[in-house]
Amino acid sequence: MILIDGKKIASELRDDLKKEVSELKKKFNKVPGLTVILIGDLTPSQIYVRNKEKSANEVGLKSEVIKYPDNVEEKIVLNKIKELNKDDTVSGILVQLPLPKHIDKQKVIETITPDKDVDGFHPMNVGNLSSGYDSSVPCTPLGCYLLIKKIEPNLSGKKAVVVGRSNLNGKPMAQLLLKENCTVTITHSKTSDLKGECLKGDIIVAAVGIPELVKGDWVKKNAIVIDVGINKTEKGIVGDVDFDEVSKVAKALTPVPGGVGPMTIACLLKNTIECFKRNEVSVD
Ligand code: NAD
Repeated sequence: MILIDGKKIASELRDDLKKEVSELKKKFNKVPGLTVILIGDLTPSQIYVRNKEKSANEVGLKSEVIKYPDNVEEKIVLNKIKELNKDDTVSGILVQLPLPKHIDKQKVIETITPDKDVDGFHPMNVGNLSSGYDSSVPCTPLGCYLLIKKIEPNLSGKKAVVVGRSNLNGKPMAQLLLKENCTVTITHSKTSDLKGECLKGDIIVAAVGIPELVKGDWVKKNAIVIDVGINKTEKGIVGDVDFDEVSKVAKALTPVPGGVGPMTIACLLKNTIECFKRNEVSVD
């Protein structure tokens, strides 16, 4: 069984991005910039944002974090986003989720100009992805996609089963696999025979949030299995896939931690660079 080493693959991707940033610097005399807005003091969000900032600096991006207290007014955040939309030193804008209840998440997402939407959540990017056009793609599914392609470069005709239909993971994941000519099944909490559906998959991507949901006898021999889940349990952090069981059947499997997680941040950096390139070329 191939243990898909997300840490190593993410580190290689960051090395490539670092080279690309230095070439862009020579060509345009400036570097891509990522601005993250962090609202409130939720510990996980603070950790994510710190990691994003550190990784951005490592590859040579300009990075900035704007912090607001939990009770910040929605219009202050929206006005800041509008200001950043016009700032040509800012290539990508990310508002760390979740947001306090009084701030409308959709309004925030739609205020970020699609050209700087490094999370790929803006309806314009969602629409472009589902139409098969160039777009920003949400970082976690993009990371999963790159891991799958490392194992199997030609996905055409493969059966892919995506477990979970969130806007963040399942739906964009399915679109990426569809674009690669997979036959895609999206399953969710109301799917009647989840095990039966999973058994059809040459590729399974599990993004559910239920510890070790996908069992060994749900997986076809030699399937590629990508585990997006991050679940805190008594035995530590586990994924949505029963690693011990599935590793006996699958051709390749991501560990948790050390699989999809490191790819998510690397893909955020990749998306920032892609936004920079699109914006610079459009003003050429
Ligand atoms: P979500 O709660 O938004 O969506 C979960 C999906 O799972 C829903 O579509 C739901 O229909 C489906 N579901 C729920 N119960 C089910 C069941 N019994 N059978 C089949 N489907 C079921 O979650 P999300 O934001 O997509 O996150 C999923 C998991 O991925 C979580 O564990 C989260 O922590 C993790 N995550 C990891 C990363 C990473 O970088 N590795 C990034 C984002 C999320």
